[in-house]
Amino acid sequence: MNQPLLQLQNLQVSIEQKQILKGVSIDFEPGKIYALMGPNGSGKSSLSYSIAGHPKYKVTDGKILFQGEDVTELSPDERARRGIFLSFQYPKSIPGVTMANFLRSARQAVTGEEIRVFDFQKKLKVHMDTLGIPKSFMNRFVNEGFSGGEKKKAEMLQALVLQPKLIIMDETDSGLDVDALKIVAEGVQTLAGPDTTIILITHYFKILQYLTPDAVHVLKSGELVASGGADIAQKIESDGFDSFKTSEPEPIVEEDPFTVIE
Ligand code: ADP
Ligand code: MG
Repeated sequence: MNQPLLQLQNLQVSIEQKQILKGVSIDFEPGKIYALMGPNGSGKSSLSYSIAGHPKYKVTDGKILFQGEDVTELSPDERARRGIFLSFQYPKSIPGVTMANFLRSARQAVTGEEIRVFDFQKKLKVHMDTLGIPKSFMNRFVNEGFSGGEKKKAEMLQALVLQPKLIIMDETDSGLDVDALKIVAEGVQTLAGPDTTIILITHYFKILQYLTPDAVHVLKSGELVASGGADIAQKIESDGFDSFKTSEPEPIVEEDPFTVIE
């Protein structure tokens, strides 16, 4: 077996003294597509922020290893430079900053390499063609007036430009319509490759009609309650999350838990 790209070892995470993740252990292998599922408030987004190194999420025990290196104490920038990419790490919209300039700066920040505007634009054009993005997109301001589908495309374009080893896509946006879901599914297939691992976080299965993950992990109340193949997603679709049991009695989860908006 290959060395896992990412290893979560007994990861325990708290936010403002409240324990959110209660000892999660998962290995993610290179070049695979994972779905991370779980009901609202189960800790999916917290898990992704913890992997990316968001300072609000305190690792109280356990470790995060990336390519065998302990990155638990590294800053978000250091993790990004090693190839960890979390979607939506930028504000909802940035008036006055074009997509082209934003992506060029992002690339420079991650690689530390200067790239000439002209050379970058040539590269960007290739990636935009891959994703079927019209040329006008380059000169639009970041996320300003973007539709759900366009935001997803912007996110995937960013991933193509940065070429991370790990892409975590958090589908918090439950307002995605079927077209946007298809865009995400197609984008995931485009981004996937032998050197890219994708973790797609979703609490609904619609997207899994358009793509088949290599493995599915299920979180509930901050615990890993099931791991397996795509058939788990089908089981969730028919039975919901109730059949997965946690080690402790489950707390009553609010309908609309507090979510972090970057
Ligand atoms: P999911 O993404 O699975 O819906 P979250 O990771 O957003 O779950 O939330 C897990 C738990 O952590 C919830 O109980 C939520 O209320 C709590 N939580 C998440 N982020 C914060 C925060 N910034 N401040 C306080 N509590 C939070
Ligand atoms: Mg979430």
